[in-house]
Amino acid sequence: MSGADFVATGGCLCGAVRFGLTGKLAPVGFCHCSKCRRVSGTGSNAVLNVRRDRFAWLSGEDNLKRYALPSGWSTVFCADCGCPAPQPTPDGGRMFVPAGALDGDPALDIAGHIHLGSKPAWVAICDDAPRFEEGAA
Ligand SMILES: [Zn+2]
Ligand SMILES: [Zn+2]
Repeated sequence: MSGADFVATGGCLCGAVRFGLTGKLAPVGFCHCSKCRRVSGTGSNAVLNVRRDRFAWLSGEDNLKRYALPSGWSTVFCADCGCPAPQPTPDGGRMFVPAGALDGDPALDIAGHIHLGSKPAWVAICDDAPRFEEGAA
């Protein structure tokens, strides 16, 4: 697959980890839970939930590290620069792709916000996307 076939590409800060997306771009969703706040270092994460067949590793898959909590919640990141990286969803059928890792500024719809019950007061939400106190219904 050539680079021209991708609707978006992305990667980590050091450039070791690279990936591409095909097909219709998934919308970006925000999770404000305490785990996503810690792993992102800010008020929420920002993630695309991408069909596995629309995701391709370009490089660096062997450069990933994974940290998992006993609950099974996990984060995957570049072993060299520490940037959050794509990881499979628990059922393996889709990929969680960090929106901030994308190159440039692809046009993304906003899927919504979850775990607003954990959102810090200093985070302002400025869109009309669906909001959930806990996980999405
Ligand atoms: Zn890196
Ligand atoms: Zn979360």
